[in-house]
Amino acid sequence: MSGAPAILVRGLRKSYDGNEAVRGIDFDVLPGEVFGLLGPNGAGKTTTVEILEGYRQRDAGEVRVLGVDPWRSDGSHRERIGVVLQHSELPPALSVREVHRMFAGYYLHPRDIDEVIELVGLADKTEERVKTLSGGQKRRLDLGVALVGDPELVFLDEPTTGFDPAARRTAWDLVRSLRSLGKTIVLTTHYLDEAQQLADRVAVIREGSLVRIGTPSELIGATPKVEIRYRAHGREMVVTTGEPTRVLAELTSRAIAEGRELEALEVRRPTLEDVYLELVDGDE
Ligand code: ATP
Repeated sequence: MSGAPAILVRGLRKSYDGNEAVRGIDFDVLPGEVFGLLGPNGAGKTTTVEILEGYRQRDAGEVRVLGVDPWRSDGSHRERIGVVLQHSELPPALSVREVHRMFAGYYLHPRDIDEVIELVGLADKTEERVKTLSGGQKRRLDLGVALVGDPELVFLDEPTTGFDPAARRTAWDLVRSLRSLGKTIVLTTHYLDEAQQLADRVAVIREGSLVRIGTPSELIGATPKVEIRYRAHGREMVVTTGEPTRVLAELTSRAIAEGRELEALEVRRPTLEDVYLELVDGDE
């Protein structure tokens, strides 16, 4: 790829009936990175992703996906892209293996389907019919279908919605293993812990504009605040400070001088979720 971004977006705009859903956004996704797209409901994430996937036409701006304009593509670059949508309808009477085989038939160079089924954790369900799978297993099947073409770039739209905590961890491991295979991944999620765990960089979109982009630690590091919590006289005390060393020293020396314990003392750095909530609630 000679250092070219996997995805390039410049000045992207899209309106629906005069309402601007995407208001001029710019970002790059680098080859091999997991890029998280975050934002509240209606922020413009799906519109952006659908434009990148080539399902939706933009009004203005430049878009390149694997070097190709997705709207003007002849379709050949689709072979190199895998898409996992939020909702999909796969033939209910087919088995897990049959579904994979059907999709493998659409590609010139599909992956070995049993390998894919194993990768998404459905090896013990290979002969089960789609209609008998649980919600979480169906999502794994969606992922398997997106991977049979051995894509370079994978779009994951809220991939773990409805997963139980153990299934979520398995899905995270799967995303990590895709990353280690060198795939580029665009991950849309409302779970900030998921983005913090998986994404190399995240972009926060609000009302169609990009309000922040960077690594999770850059976003968190930009907030110098630390939260100190403790209980005093039966009450929960919370101090938010940019000078945790000084505040903590004052609190602890006072408590020591008075011979009491700072009960339930906790010092907490903000999480990506805290920073995100500030960004989307704030009025910058
Ligand atoms: P969510 O997190 O709820 O999926 P989102 O960030 O993906 O939200 P979009 O689906 O891109 O947001 O929607 C952005 C805006 O565009 C919203 O105001 C939405 O109502 C509007 N919109 C989206 N799709 C259409 C459409 N097909 N026709 C008209 N308006 C639309």
